Amino acid sequence: MTVRTRIAPSPTGDPHVGTAYIALFNMAFARKHGGTFVLRIEDTDQVRSTPESEVAILDSMKWLGLNWEEGPDIGGEHGPYRQSERRDIYAKYIQQLLDDGHAFKCFATSEELDEMRIQQKANGETPRYDGRGLLLSDVEIQQKVDAGEPYVVRMKVPEEGVCSFDDMLRGTIEIEWSQIDMQVLMKADGMPTYHLANVVDDHLMAISHVIRGEEWINSAPKHQLLYKYFGWEMPVLCHMPLLRNPDKSKLSKRKNPTSISYYDRMGFLPEAVVNYLARMGWSMPDEREKFTLDEMIAEFDISRVSLGGPVFDVEKLTWLNGLWIREELSIDALAERFTTWAVNKEYLGQVLPLIQKRINVLSDAAPLVSFFLEGMPTLTEESFEYKKLEIEQTRKILQFALWRLEAQREWNLENIQKDLFSLSESLEIKMRDFMIPIFVAVSGKQSAPSIMDAMEILGPDMTRARLRAGLATLGAPSKKELKRLEKEFKLFQ
Ligand code: GLU
Repeated sequence: MTVRTRIAPSPTGDPHVGTAYIALFNMAFARKHGGTFVLRIEDTDQVRSTPESEVAILDSMKWLGLNWEEGPDIGGEHGPYRQSERRDIYAKYIQQLLDDGHAFKCFATSEELDEMRIQQKANGETPRYDGRGLLLSDVEIQQKVDAGEPYVVRMKVPEEGVCSFDDMLRGTIEIEWSQIDMQVLMKADGMPTYHLANVVDDHLMAISHVIRGEEWINSAPKHQLLYKYFGWEMPVLCHMPLLRNPDKSKLSKRKNPTSISYYDRMGFLPEAVVNYLARMGWSMPDEREKFTLDEMIAEFDISRVSLGGPVFDVEKLTWLNGLWIREELSIDALAERFTTWAVNKEYLGQVLPLIQKRINVLSDAAPLVSFFLEGMPTLTEESFEYKKLEIEQTRKILQFALWRLEAQREWNLENIQKDLFSLSESLEIKMRDFMIPIFVAVSGKQSAPSIMDAMEILGPDMTRARLRAGLATLGAPSKKELKRLEKEFKLFQ
């Protein structure tokens, strides 16, 4: 069998550590078996997908050296590799399912479905779609279509029995059909959902092995059924254990930076990050900690992935990165790394316009620009002391700014300004005062060269990480407090 694996990220946010981890194992598996590794962009969610996020994902994967042989940037025999460009293909397959009676049109409005769920809950049932669309006659359906009523297409699902499928790491998995909803396959806007597009593309792109996170296990029955409906062979499935925070909860940006760009900006070496990701649930036969991607591929055996939740621990990664710096890089190579990282014309070209007016000799620059090269500024509660703001206000400003900027999909000066100005207005705090906690968290000082320009240059990941760290210095809000703050924050939306 020709091995073909893929990574299928949705460009709806920062390039996630979890995406890189899954990409690494797909790539290693393909390489080990002389196969092909494909990158496909799953952007069917047109509201949340952004070109900016797609670029960031591709750049991060390239930075890590997780290179693909087919993808949206380089093409390939099975393109296009961006789902938004494959609409016609999906429409054809949706029609096929409708014609064969495996799917049906559903005209229920969202109010109707909400009502249905409320009723089900009141009756002590698990809320799920009740198959009401199946009760319509062909004539009724045609009338509604002719009248221009919006509809979605849902797949038929057996009412009883058990779905069973094999997983490379987990053996046979069984899930009762009664747990599986009549999944929407095509939304009212004509776009397919993840499930339909994913199955159609994996088939048309001749994917032989689907290696993905365990959060997709519950989708496997729907996918298996779709393969059956189409009469296609299903790829081999392999659900990898999810990455965890050191406290074993699911890896989250509240507890760990999760964006690959953050690790790049912090000055981690891509080899060390890949090395560490390879250690997530997997080990070399001799258990050594430090190894290269090529060494991993040479020894790769997916059955040695252990299912105990692998912990992504930044301290451990930092330690491993230190080993790489000390043991693998000559001084020349290290100097080279500084140059590619930040000490280069491109980066200085962004930073220097902010300080040119303030320096007389070049050495004046160092203290002014140091925070562009730092990781997290060293802060204490005193760093935030400012007579016009109570500590509670300071914490609120940091939390609200963080939320606002986390929701920002397009990171540029104009949007950062808009976000912060409108927040200061909503909070009724003068912009000058409102900005002090932001200055401190982002630059380590109460004043700094144009901080919003600096935030644009530092990028979303580093800026948010610093706001989070600043907030943590003052005591991150408790769950109860968060709820209260969230309520207030929502009023400003
Ligand atoms: N688009 C899905 C994601 O964002 C892909 C899941 C899969 O690999 O099937 O993770």
